[in-house]
Amino acid sequence: MPRALITGITGQDGRYLAEFLAAKGYEVFGLVRGQNNPRARPVLEAVPSVRLLSGDLRDLPSLVGALDAARPDEVYNLAAISFVGMSWRQAELTSEITGLGVLRMLEALRIHTRDDLARVRFYQASSSEMFGKVREVPQNETTPFHPRSPYGVAKTFGHYITVNYRESYGAYACSGILFNHESPRRGHEFVTRKVTRGAARIALGLQDTIALGNVDARRDWGFAGDYVEAMWLMLQQDEPHDYVIATGETHTVRDLLDIAFRRVGIDDWEPHVRREPRLIRPAEVDLLVGDSTLARERLGWKPRGGFPDLIEMMVDADLADLTRPAHD
Ligand code: GDP
Repeated sequence: MPRALITGITGQDGRYLAEFLAAKGYEVFGLVRGQNNPRARPVLEAVPSVRLLSGDLRDLPSLVGALDAARPDEVYNLAAISFVGMSWRQAELTSEITGLGVLRMLEALRIHTRDDLARVRFYQASSSEMFGKVREVPQNETTPFHPRSPYGVAKTFGHYITVNYRESYGAYACSGILFNHESPRRGHEFVTRKVTRGAARIALGLQDTIALGNVDARRDWGFAGDYVEAMWLMLQQDEPHDYVIATGETHTVRDLLDIAFRRVGIDDWEPHVRREPRLIRPAEVDLLVGDSTLARERLGWKPRGGFPDLIEMMVDADLADLTRPAHD
């Protein structure tokens, strides 16, 4: 039975990946902060066989301890402070966890494997936010980075240190440059979920408006459930490599509003959206669209559904959640 350790198992991707790996017959271990972390409940309900280990990306000995306990064949480093908007307010903490945390995990692997790093396959969750002020359209594995937020800068460090440990120590380390990926499990602070939840609440008469920042931003939004498969595929190849994972389509926040509000029977969303200057970011990523040709060719990976299907599925899930009896 192969063994996998997932950091960030309580997050959106962690839960999809735990379900995916458990279904493939893996013994799945998850790193969680603190004891009895309430955020672990949904993943334990979804995958009761998951074994949780306590540890923190700020604490190297705890990472070595988790690796020694799990003895994984594969490590997926998904843990991060992942909300871009927050990263200006907590720039140092974001760098500490999202950036230096990657180095600590790789160092822990060196200690755990006694410098035989290739023995454990390592996946680093890199991000399209590294492209930031994009140098070319679409973005692929060779597009230069120009991050626009402390989060993007921290992810760029994590990316390069992963590449460096592969080149320095022969680690089987892959960096997946994933474009935005969403689902009904997405945190409410991200724009897709904020809009799908907001539209559902407005349709149910629970609120009148949604406060938003820049509605002209363009993103390449895919479904998180598809993207965790790409993570796994990267670690099954003969040679480690970095891959862009994206749909290749770009949409504005306005498109997102059109689809979400139409789904709840509202044709004109303008009266329901308040523009708030506090939600405008100090530096913005205006346009992201990824070219995942390499992943399609080498991994045989491709996204399944389209953008309207994803947003409609999220609206429907929010409507169902909001109308579910409280005791359910
Ligand atoms: P990100 O790409 O990781 O930053 O994902 P987000 O979902 O947080 O943001 C996507 C885009 O939506 C960014 O360009 C934001 O500036 C834009 N946006 C506009 N209004 C909002 C808002 O109220 N909340 C968030 N999170 N993003 C917003």
